[in-house]
Amino acid sequence: MTVSAPRNWNYPTAIRFGPGRIKELPQACAELGITRPLLVTDPGIAALPILEAALEANRLSGVDTGVFSGVDSNPVGANVDAGVSAYKDGTHDGVIAMGGGSALDAAKAIALMVGQDRPLWDFEDVGDNWSRVNADGMAPVVAVPTTSGTGSEVGRASVITDVATHTKKIIFHPKMLPEQVICDPALTIGLPPKITAAVGMDALSHNLEAFCAPGNHPMADGIAIEGMRLIHTHLLTAVREPANIDARSAMMSASLMGATAFQKGLGAMHSMAHVIGAQLNAHHGLINAVVMPYVLCANRSAIADRLQDLARYLDLPDPGFMAVLDWVLALRQALDIPHTLADLGVTHAHLPTFAPAAVKDPSTGSNPLPFGVDEFSKLFSQAIDGSLT
Ligand SMILES: [Zn+2]
Repeated sequence: MTVSAPRNWNYPTAIRFGPGRIKELPQACAELGITRPLLVTDPGIAALPILEAALEANRLSGVDTGVFSGVDSNPVGANVDAGVSAYKDGTHDGVIAMGGGSALDAAKAIALMVGQDRPLWDFEDVGDNWSRVNADGMAPVVAVPTTSGTGSEVGRASVITDVATHTKKIIFHPKMLPEQVICDPALTIGLPPKITAAVGMDALSHNLEAFCAPGNHPMADGIAIEGMRLIHTHLLTAVREPANIDARSAMMSASLMGATAFQKGLGAMHSMAHVIGAQLNAHHGLINAVVMPYVLCANRSAIADRLQDLARYLDLPDPGFMAVLDWVLALRQALDIPHTLADLGVTHAHLPTFAPAAVKDPSTGSNPLPFGVDEFSKLFSQAIDGSLT
């Protein structure tokens, strides 16, 4: 069986996987009792034929579908508010979340917020804030990813920027995991090489950080290491041969696997990506790709054994920490990813704000080593200057 063969999975949620399965959108809506969906996406997708493919599928089945495309590339609270208004104005009864991570995150937050009296930030993933949610008020969600990276279609959270504080906040509820997912790798064929590379590296960072996160979680570890094997085998092909459906399918699987595995935890790559993304509006996957080798080196003493296992599984020469580091560096180079944070506009003047903010990021708690302000200051400095030690 090839990696692009159509399959139905029920783990971690109901997933229709395979090229062309966007045609089953009306069935997915029907299974959740949705008759008047609001399709939430971003302006980029709204201009593409793949949106029309989704709308056409619903039209043929008589499913009246509204479209809300007011989602920024790093979604903000106002995007969620506007989506909630569109949902209520159109008397919709469910959400189709279609797009990359930003659109999926915004759509999931909109589906959460249509039934709440409290403001969005009351549900930030801190302590047991999620228990404040009126779960009965949440709208059902069909998720349709159009990139392979964030895995938000199988995640239980959304990352939304709070513009008042310039911070990325994680909004969490267990029921934010979409009940129906359509993974149609053909939808990603038109994705430009640079975006394919950046989101693919986001998927790698999810699998890698989950695999290295401390704690005993054999299920997450097993998923993460196989996710990385798929990326090792297929990411470059997906970038160089955009219409290669096997490579696109493998990357879509790896994306699902990263987000499933990172229930175990993420780490300092994501702490830095959240902080930089909130301040500089840089691409999330690209930031993770840039900081990846620096974070691996900073965590080396805690992850050397893990990376030896990974190197063996990937069949890298001379398996060990350096083998994985060299693999990451070579992959970044082959994908034309910049080597330093300076290339993304980060300067030493950002350190006094970025380092303390990274310490506070929720991903820091599951980094292999405890990082405080001093460790993050050093890490940001090294990544700005390009000094790998
Ligand atoms: Zn990520």
